[in-house]
Amino acid sequence: MIFEPDFETLPREAMRALQGDRLRALVGYVHDRVPAYRERLRRSGVSASDIASIDDITRLPITRKSDLRDHYPFGLLAVARGEVRRVHVSSGTTGKPTVVAYTAGDVDLFARVNARSLAMAGAEPGMMLHNAYGYGLFTGGLGIHYGGERLGLNVVPVSGGMTERQMTLITDFRPEVITCTPSYALTLATEFLKRGIGPDEISLRFAVLGAEPWTDGMRAQIDAALGVKSVNIYGLSEIIGPGVSCECVEGRDGSHIMEDHFFPEILDSESGEPLGDGEEGVLVLTTLTKEALPLLRYWTGDITSLTRAPCPCGRTLARMRLIKGRTDDMLIIRGVNVYPSQIESVLARVPELSPHYRIVVRRDGTLDGICVHAEVSDAFFREVGRAVLSQEVVESDHRLRDLRERLAMLLRDIIGIAMAVELLPPGEAPRSEGGKLNRVTDSRR
Ligand SMILES: [Zn+2]
Repeated sequence: MIFEPDFETLPREAMRALQGDRLRALVGYVHDRVPAYRERLRRSGVSASDIASIDDITRLPITRKSDLRDHYPFGLLAVARGEVRRVHVSSGTTGKPTVVAYTAGDVDLFARVNARSLAMAGAEPGMMLHNAYGYGLFTGGLGIHYGGERLGLNVVPVSGGMTERQMTLITDFRPEVITCTPSYALTLATEFLKRGIGPDEISLRFAVLGAEPWTDGMRAQIDAALGVKSVNIYGLSEIIGPGVSCECVEGRDGSHIMEDHFFPEILDSESGEPLGDGEEGVLVLTTLTKEALPLLRYWTGDITSLTRAPCPCGRTLARMRLIKGRTDDMLIIRGVNVYPSQIESVLARVPELSPHYRIVVRRDGTLDGICVHAEVSDAFFREVGRAVLSQEVVESDHRLRDLRERLAMLLRDIIGIAMAVELLPPGEAPRSEGGKLNRVTDSRR
């Protein structure tokens, strides 16, 4: 079903007109209410009356994460503190956390875009939703929760972690829909496998996965193990949280952006120049309708591309590809851009490996060295019949040596630089407990 067909199937020209009107109103709104934006707009020499159509968005200043930090905690608010109904906080890797705020209208919008997303994913009123996104300051849990209720689902607010209890609730309650990170879906899939419970016996039909980059290789593994059709949901707290975009279960080929509320652009990561459909660059989003913390052209740092081609689901909303990585996750190894997600997609092609891994980067003399620690699958480990996987053991066993060399060759051919490979026994690589997972150790920093 389509939750808000009037907007989700709007003809492209009508969408552009709506976006243009909303952008003009937004520029006036932030000019009148946010001193920092008033100053930026003055310097750019742009006012609301200059916005003739959505194309004029390129005249507006870019907003960056550092702007939110500089105005920590509430300096960019466009409403009085008394009008705020909720705040969320995301922890940064450096310095102050990012604080975002919602009016009653924003909370309502947050519920609607998540109701749209869950409907895109295949959920229908009356189904049960097992929501394993973290509840609390993180936007994931509550965002999906309110969206599920708005769509008419029976929401089980499990939150992240405590895998044992999650298994019991899924087995006993028999939910049709699950929401969590893709790495946690793999954790659950492994757990079902261990207990000898096959995909036909698991009640789940639809999985809505997000909050970290993933690949089509992981998708195939999750679908097969849990017996679901999984889709990608995308969001970031600065824009609203989850529900910025979501894939439809009919197409599963790019996430439909709720572009009547969040206008997308793709800019070149170096020059900041606008790029066309199909071209890969940084996703930049403008919140067209948010009240408490509206943002002009927010630089997400996420690398993707857009398409406005028709979709089998009938929605006309533009779609974005799976996030390839973030500009700040990107590793520069001997001058080559490498994203952890690229390495992950190579690992997924090798059946003897599990989807878990670690990447270690260091400087050897003057050269950057990168080593992929890849975990072998349970089945292959049993087949090889070794207790440990030390360097000597790998050297002395042709099956392990072949695997290591085959993986090194694939990595070099597909990503374009030589990488060292070490094999890990099952269970050694980091696992997700529902939160964000750091798989990269970069000792050059
Ligand atoms: Zn679609």
